[in-house]
Order: sequence, then C-alpha cells, then structure tokens
Amino acid sequence: MNNGTHQQLDTDLQQALLRWYDENRRDLPWRRERDPYRIWVSEIMLQQTRVDTVIPYYERFLARFPDAATLAAAADDDVLTAWAGLGYYRRARQLHAGVREVVARYGGAVPSEPDELARLPGIGPYTAGAIASIAFNRPVPAVDGNVMRVLSRLFRLRDDVRQASARRRFEEVAASLVPVDRPGDFNQALMELGALICIPGRPRCAGCPVQSHCEAYAAGEQTELPVRSRPPAPQEHELACAIIEADGRLFVERRPPDGLLASLWQFPTVELRPGETPAAAVVRRLAAAFGWAVEPSQQSVRHTHTFTHRRWRLVGIGCRLPTADGVEAADIAASSDDAPAHRWVTAAELAALPLAGPHRRIWEQWQARADETAKS
Ligand code: SF4
Repeated sequence: MNNGTHQQLDTDLQQALLRWYDENRRDLPWRRERDPYRIWVSEIMLQQTRVDTVIPYYERFLARFPDAATLAAAADDDVLTAWAGLGYYRRARQLHAGVREVVARYGGAVPSEPDELARLPGIGPYTAGAIASIAFNRPVPAVDGNVMRVLSRLFRLRDDVRQASARRRFEEVAASLVPVDRPGDFNQALMELGALICIPGRPRCAGCPVQSHCEAYAAGEQTELPVRSRPPAPQEHELACAIIEADGRLFVERRPPDGLLASLWQFPTVELRPGETPAAAVVRRLAAAFGWAVEPSQQSVRHTHTFTHRRWRLVGIGCRLPTADGVEAADIAASSDDAPAHRWVTAAELAALPLAGPHRRIWEQWQARADETAKS
C-alpha cells in the first residue's frame, strides 16, 4: 500500500471517528470546558476512577478551588479532604504540587507546551497530551489504557501493554493519526470509543464506527487484544491498628510524608512480626511510640485492601488507655503545632479528616458493630 493510500485510510478513519463522536459523545462537565486548569483536574480525577464517580467530586472540587491560584493557596489537608472518597490521594498531592509550581513559575497560567506540562508533578505523557490537545488545540496524542486497547485492535498490535516500550509504540501510532484541525476532539473520540464501544473483554463491534478499518475485527482477534502480561502477585502484609477511645475522642496519627498513603491519617498501625498476634503487635507499637501500656479488648474488625503491588490484611483492635496515660494523651492533643503528627478527634472530626482508605473501612465496620451491640 503506498503512502497516499495510507493517508486516505487514516483520513477516513479520523472522519468516521469524529462523526461518531459528534453524535454520540456523553455530555460530561469537563467537555464543556477549555480552561486548562479544569481539564487538568478532570484528567487527574479520571485516572483509575469511573466517570460517574468523578462527576460530583469534580463539581465540588471546582466549586471550592475554582482556579489555579485558589488551589495553590489551599492547605494540604483541605485539598486531601476535598479528595476524600476518590482514593489514590497521591494524585491530589501531585495536582496540588503541580498547580503550586504553575503559580510560582508561570504566574498561574498553565503552560501549553506538552514538554513543559510533562515536567510538572503528576503529569505524564498522557495528561500532558490531553491538556495540550483539548485546552490548547495542539496536535499531540494522549494515550492511556483505553486508547492503547483501541489502537491494539484497530492495528492488530501485539505489544504487551504493560511494557513501557509498548506505550511508546502506541504513542507513535496515535501521533500519526491526530488531525491538526480537531486534535482534542480526536483524542477524546478515541477515549470515548474505548469507554463505550471498544470495551475490555468483548467489544461491541456491531455498533463500531471504525469497524471497516479494524484489523483485529477482520482477523476475528478482537477479544485476544490487547496483549497484557500477568501482573506479579501482590506482596502480603499482616497489620494491626489500635482504635483508642478516651473521653469521646479517638486517637489518630499521620502517616509519613512519603510513600504509600503519604500524609493521610490512620489509627496507630503496626506490621505484625512472624507469629505475633494483632493484640500483641499494637501493645508493642504503642509502648514503643508513646510509652503507653494499653489494654487491648477482645473486640476486633478486619479489612483486606489490595493496592497495586501489595495487599494489607488489617485488623482493628479496640484498646483502653489507663487513666494516667489518658492525661498524657490529652497533652498531645493540646499541642499548638500546625501540622501535628498525632491528634485526638471526635467521630465528627474523624469523618472530615483525610483518613487512609483501609482505616476508613475499619472505622465503618467498628461503628456498624457498635450499632449492632447497642440494638441487641
Ligand atoms: Fe474495537 Fe470492534 Fe471497533 Fe475493532 S471493530 S475498534 S475491536 S469495537
């Protein structure tokens, strides 16, 4: 096939996809926007989270932080609290850091160059491409998992989508397709096709606007693509956390500023040693960290949480503080430190705190159990 024929096929494919997008696209709040800050917020929220879940968070977040300057000036905990429930808090922290950099370095104007965007915290090639093409009409690709699935089928590409080298190949293919006149719409059309028609598992080929261009469909291989190697099994971790209530308040600590669930709050938590019981582990942790001799109760709740590379089996244990320790604990609560590492909070304050997801599940179970006990 000569170059001219190739170009004609690509143009036919672009046109078919854009026509379908114009007629079928969902009316989503961020699609009414060209403001790069708002597009940025939507793209970060949409990573690993469903559209229906994102919509109310997106609207609330922008009502609270309507522009880059407002978000840049916000306190870390306010941003994390507004993000609470969306999970993957690292995204919120990086968005916050990125927006602060935009204010400090670019006077609050989000840069339009993909390379400059990609240097900001939390912005990878996909998000840079999405912002540059949608907000600034730059003819650059935006390749995420959805788009890789569509391209792997359209062009029968057998590269393992878990490999970085595959992403580069898909970006090259996508770059050769993005039209100069409607790059943002084209990128969104590919994503929309992946979300509505060319879905994981069994794609809906009968209703596909680019079926006549699809090499996997022609070969009957659409359910075999994309190729994705098996992820390694997550590492297992046994942990225990202490639910300490005293004078109607609960004791929580802040996680370290780096790493998993960074800076979020949690009940004091410890990883079990081999052969150790959860109760013994929390006694050990609280003695070592605070010098408290707590009395663990018989009551416990369990929650298993799987992260990308690890799985937590977390047990929450009710613990009582002897009176003298309670006084010492109250002193910690009275600390005037702006960013305390520990706090005593009421249940209402806990609900408003950016609490780590696994600990929130533990707390929900703990409350459900208390409600049942009160009824019986
Ligand atoms: Fe995907 Fe099927 Fe369309 Fe090919 S024909 S792009 S496999 S939905």
